[in-house]
Amino acid sequence: MRDVHSGSVVRHSATAGSGTERGRSVAVVTRAVHRFREYKFGPDLQPAAEPITSAMQCKACGLTGGTAEEPADGSAWAVGHLKANPDHLEYREHIRRPYRFEAGAWQ
Ligand SMILES: [Zn+2]
Repeated sequence: MRDVHSGSVVRHSATAGSGTERGRSVAVVTRAVHRFREYKFGPDLQPAAEPITSAMQCKACGLTGGTAEEPADGSAWAVGHLKANPDHLEYREHIRRPYRFEAGAWQ
């Protein structure tokens, strides 16, 4: 009685083994070592960083003044645009500012 039961278990195991082989399921164990470090994110203040620029855009007609490194340049363009278009009263300033991650110490 006990031997029959044991034989049954072996056969079941063999069936499961051949099914796995047919399906080509392969288990891969990957080991990786991770090191962590903190990064600080903020405006890029390095001398080589691209300059901060701004451009003024009229919200009424979508026209944009030239891109400038001084925000006041955009204001001058808006004044001239208002003189030519007295009903164009609202503007938006597009500012481009470079950012970068500064790497901290390894942990
Ligand atoms: Zn306009």
